[in-house]
Amino acid sequence: MMSRLDLFSPRYEIARRRFRDAANEAGATLEHHPIDPGTENGDLTIDVATLGHAKPRWAVVVTSGLHGVEGFFGSAIQLAWLTRLTNGGPPPAGGAIVLIHAVNPYGFARLRRTNEDNVDLNRNFLDTRDSYTGAPAGYAALDLFLNPASPPSLLEPFRLKALWHIKRNGLPMLKNTVAGGQYRFPQGLFFGGREPASSTRITQQHLAGWLGGAPRTVHVDLHSGLGAYGQYRLLLEESAASPRVEWYRDAFGAERVEPLADASGTSYTASGTLGGWAVTHLTGTRHRFVNAEFGTYPILRVLGALRAENRAHFFGRPDTGATRRAKSELLECFCPHDGRWRQLVVEQGLAIIDRAVRALSKEQSAKLDSATDENKSRIDR
Ligand SMILES: [Zn+2]
Repeated sequence: MMSRLDLFSPRYEIARRRFRDAANEAGATLEHHPIDPGTENGDLTIDVATLGHAKPRWAVVVTSGLHGVEGFFGSAIQLAWLTRLTNGGPPPAGGAIVLIHAVNPYGFARLRRTNEDNVDLNRNFLDTRDSYTGAPAGYAALDLFLNPASPPSLLEPFRLKALWHIKRNGLPMLKNTVAGGQYRFPQGLFFGGREPASSTRITQQHLAGWLGGAPRTVHVDLHSGLGAYGQYRLLLEESAASPRVEWYRDAFGAERVEPLADASGTSYTASGTLGGWAVTHLTGTRHRFVNAEFGTYPILRVLGALRAENRAHFFGRPDTGATRRAKSELLECFCPHDGRWRQLVVEQGLAIIDRAVRALSKEQSAKLDSATDENKSRIDR
């Protein structure tokens, strides 16, 4: 069995090749979807591996790299699952596993959180064209602080400025204002786009098909950069009042599950999320969705890294030390090099997938049992 640390690839192209090889070896059906055919990004693809039953009774879908640079860690978890299966791990009996590799391959390949148009794809899944407008009231006031029109500088007191804004507005308010998504500043952080991006359209067009008509599905969307170091939380698209929250607690453990918009917690309210779109549009299935968020560094360090990389992207030159520093700090913030962190996230990532499979298989056998009981009582009569 491959060491956990070997599962982490140094570049997108290598991660993708290993994903394809491992998927083939595991006997998966593979698809490649170029995000921008015929352009300089023509070789960048979303890869989809499907395993298991052709007419599955349940399906678990796992997405990596919706936020490009987070793909390094998500890809490692997907590769770990495929490798484990090839080495005798439990096959998806009666069900299907769908692994979607690098939803944002551009950001993965170029070390960005956003896509080829600086779009945060997890703010891009809006229902109507005219909803791609505006920004939270506080964002415009913060624009100059978040998105200075100059390359990053080592001399700048980012921390002090950030702490001043936090003191003034409070961290929850700032999180919502900043990270919730905006549609007004195309070069700014957390820009949600002007229309559905290529990755968004591909996902929307194919997701139902990839699930193979399974009546019950769970989607695990892998993210990093928010929360306590090496720990994960499962952020829901459901408010605490929803009767469905109990299902998630049973399936994944109450201590891991965090319903929507709890200001004290890890999450914040965001618009245009993949999960929000999926739970309302996948009507042929009972779809459950979790954002599996793995923590790395304190929020200020992560925000500082995002801000510096964005400045380097728009106002810096690629061959400078400042740009290289910004890229490597961004990578560190979303996929730390620390072997202990990497080991932990792979173990926990596999455990989340296993719990999703177990929850769905259990429901399936409970359903079969009750069907058998029904038949029996009919015969008795
Ligand atoms: Zn993310």
